[in-house]
Amino acid sequence: MDGLVIEYHDPLFGIFTLFLVIFIASFLTYAYNIYIERKSRKEYRDFIKKFELGDLKEDDYISLYTTYNLPFDSIILLASSFLHKGEYNKAVSVYQGLLNHVKEPVKKEELLELLGKTYFKGGFLQRSKETFLKILQFSPRNTQALFHLLFIYEKLREYTKAEDVMESLDEIDENVRTDKTYIRTLALIDNIRMPIDEKTQKLLAIYNINPLIERLFLDFLLKYNKPFFWKNIELFDLTKIIDLLWFLDQKDLELEIVEKIPFLKHLYSAKGFLKDNVASEIFELSVLIATKNSTLDVNLDLNFYFLCTKCKKTIPMYDSRCPHCHNILTLKVKPQLTKGYYEKNSSLQ
Ligand SMILES: [Zn+2]
Repeated sequence: MDGLVIEYHDPLFGIFTLFLVIFIASFLTYAYNIYIERKSRKEYRDFIKKFELGDLKEDDYISLYTTYNLPFDSIILLASSFLHKGEYNKAVSVYQGLLNHVKEPVKKEELLELLGKTYFKGGFLQRSKETFLKILQFSPRNTQALFHLLFIYEKLREYTKAEDVMESLDEIDENVRTDKTYIRTLALIDNIRMPIDEKTQKLLAIYNINPLIERLFLDFLLKYNKPFFWKNIELFDLTKIIDLLWFLDQKDLELEIVEKIPFLKHLYSAKGFLKDNVASEIFELSVLIATKNSTLDVNLDLNFYFLCTKCKKTIPMYDSRCPHCHNILTLKVKPQLTKGYYEKNSSLQ
């Protein structure tokens, strides 16, 4: 009879015990998790306080990842503060340190990309190149790596290698048509063995199909083939190279042609090479012409800056590839009135 009772109660008691064990285990796990979370939150807050004070060192970022399990993306975001401050060496230390701890291939690739881009921004082209080549060894379709290699080879004037990279980009359906024309133009201008006349004709042929290279062509002509420039001046939009024309020597001007083109007449009147008292459509030129013809004791000069039509950032020196967004031939010249050099010097006396 006893045995029967036990048999009757056993299953219920067993189930009850099982639930109790599960409950206790869950509760303990829950409590432990809360404890761990609170502990790491506190430590994290301490770290963030350090960060706000600007005290966080490169090693601290590695600790945040390895010891405090802060998500990878958050560390990368925090480390980007070094980039904003232009402290490229510190950013590099963080990325290299993380590379030693990160195991997932995707994260390794992301870190190598960041490292390569940081070297590139810091002007360490050789190291940047090595990093991107390393990425391509295990991820040959990485477009970031391929595009940056293109920029690097372009800067290093290694145009044949740049063409190889464009072939790879072509194969993975990236649009590099404009890049191809652009690199071909640069390679042609850089070819010291080709006679100037032959080079001029080849550049003209490219320009006729793709006017985007206008400034590269004009820059070449003003340096090496001025007769062709003056003879074919109607082919070009001269306002786009106002800076190049402004800095031409007086002896290089074909005055007969200058007289026939209002823009050039205004430009060289503003410069003081001509004596005309005319108004220009360009405000800065009009002001300069007016001051040149007045008795006022002001010494104004013209300076230029460049605005990217794609990313809207400005730079003080012309670059055929925007240093911010990497687009090609998107920089537009903007004139700017400045104090003249003579006046600055005389004010020092
Ligand atoms: Zn830009």
